[in-house]
Amino acid sequence: MFRQMGSAGVYCAAMNNAQQILQSVFGYESFREPQDAIIQTVIAGGDALVLMPTGGGKSLCYQIPALARPGCGIVISPLIALMQDQVSAMRQLGVRASYLNSTLDADEARTVERELRSGELDLLYIAPERLTQPRCLAMLEQADIALFAIDEAHCVSQWGHDFRADYLQLTLLHERFPDIPRIALTATADERTRTEIIQRLDLAQAEQFIAGFDRPNIRYRIALKNNPRAQLLHFLKDEHAQDAGIVYCLSRKKTEEISLWLQGQGFNALPYHAGLPSSLRADHQARFLREEGVIVVATIAFGMGIDKPDVRFVAHLDMPKTVESYYQETGRAGRDGEPADAWMIYGLQDVIKLRQMMANSDGSEEHKRAEQHRLNAMLGLCEITTCRRQSLLNYFGDTLHQPCGNCDTCLEPVDTWDGTEAARKALSTVYRTGQRFGVNHLIDVLRGADSDKIKQFDHQQLSTYGLGKELDNTQWRSVFRQLVARAYLSVDIAQFGALRLEEKCRPLLRGEQDIQLRRDTGVTPTRQQTKTALPADIDVGLWEALRECRRELAEEQGVPPYVIFHDRSLKEMCVVLPRTPEEFGYITGVGERKLDKYGAAFLRAINEYL
Ligand code: ADP
Ligand code: ZN
Repeated sequence: MFRQMGSAGVYCAAMNNAQQILQSVFGYESFREPQDAIIQTVIAGGDALVLMPTGGGKSLCYQIPALARPGCGIVISPLIALMQDQVSAMRQLGVRASYLNSTLDADEARTVERELRSGELDLLYIAPERLTQPRCLAMLEQADIALFAIDEAHCVSQWGHDFRADYLQLTLLHERFPDIPRIALTATADERTRTEIIQRLDLAQAEQFIAGFDRPNIRYRIALKNNPRAQLLHFLKDEHAQDAGIVYCLSRKKTEEISLWLQGQGFNALPYHAGLPSSLRADHQARFLREEGVIVVATIAFGMGIDKPDVRFVAHLDMPKTVESYYQETGRAGRDGEPADAWMIYGLQDVIKLRQMMANSDGSEEHKRAEQHRLNAMLGLCEITTCRRQSLLNYFGDTLHQPCGNCDTCLEPVDTWDGTEAARKALSTVYRTGQRFGVNHLIDVLRGADSDKIKQFDHQQLSTYGLGKELDNTQWRSVFRQLVARAYLSVDIAQFGALRLEEKCRPLLRGEQDIQLRRDTGVTPTRQQTKTALPADIDVGLWEALRECRRELAEEQGVPPYVIFHDRSLKEMCVVLPRTPEEFGYITGVGERKLDKYGAAFLRAINEYL
């Protein structure tokens, strides 16, 4: 058994090889970039600042040094709800882990504290508000400590939306424990947050490890919204019939409607938003983690601290307000590195609604301008005709030199057309109608319709009346959408949805500039062949048998199935077909402890099936 006997110090001498711990405890073959360097730094007693995308493998960066160094690794995390699962995952590997937070009663907390003092723990997760209490600090001073890991380090940033006041006090770690290495970790990219972390956590001396932000296993797709429910259903049925995923909507009401409707379509869907009773929210979140194939239909209230590795898709039925949110939300897919989809549909109404919401929001003019700016970047991502990943990474200051080959614009290049003439007609119609009308009426004018409103305002007299019959209604909507998205037109708040000309139009109207528009195609979003389905060389029957075996073990132990084994390990079993414990030990994710605990059950399942 791992680390059950003897003092930590003695054990350490034998185990201070990071590579060996990686293989024997975690069952992984090799480190990912730049885990190795980070781990070496911390083992040697240095401080580190780690920026790595979600799913990049941050946890190993402190877990392995905690095992390799004498004493217990202290992990500070604001995500209390996650601690229990993190601890059970560690215990599954034979690591002596515990946590201290407000969910423990006094007796339980005392037990953990005693274990820490007597050197019986390898890892201890502590909530920041707890850690900063004098009592807790005194206890830590009496214990043997391997390192401090400050997870979600961006919570120290007052600019971010995850700010935690308790994080500001974490400088005291450096003051009270100057000799103990600290490692701060985050997936938040931007420069300002990084500077703030260094400043506020006193990490100027720390070595910085900044990994690229690409998530190559996520396939980005953004399509035009025309029949949202049908489009979503199509996507789920064709590509993710059995998978766990998240569907994001803008409003609470919509999350409830969509989840009810999905249930009617035979999916295991649950709503989640801040207006639901907290017990129900907790229940839905727990089911998402513990059961397989659950879809959560949620507002942005859902997601922070969802550490589920096998989320196979994130679908957006409404457009997020910023590229940051889009990246954060889609980033919840595919943490296990297996193929996953980020799928979104959006349309003219989203653009108008978001522009209005922003114009109506409180805050200074400067703040509003900044928000509009960020919304424009998001719209730009939607309308782009080149690689989406390149554009996304570029937004975060990262470069990808080649188109990615794994986004919709790469897979199905977008056609563009010269929209100069159409755009001019559209803009001059806005002008001639006095910048007081919404898109439907403007299209009526262009197409020469015979509506009451046209008559009421005498718009058949306009020079652009009936001048746009060459495009149909949908095509005109597409033109207007792109003009709004690219900020040639703005949406007037005072008059619901009325379009107004922006300064940017002038050269276009004067004939000094051309405009290329996206040719919107297809009724349904581009449908790629199912990437997340099982590879061809996998026997579905065996796959199901192994999943069943995993389900039973997970239920017995009251942990989520992925804590037993990730999908990747099961897939590998299907291909390799191990017949002996030794062969089983070579499967990714099978360390010594899991070999002992589960080897027999899975070998039996494989044997029976064959
Ligand atoms: P993060 O905290 O950065 O989002 P995690 O630490 O949860 O990411 O790691 C994501 C997934 O990758 C986990 O399932 C983890 O076990 C796996 N992983 C991490 N490092 C390795 C590695 N070197 N080899 C194989 N799998 C790894
Ligand atoms: Zn691409």
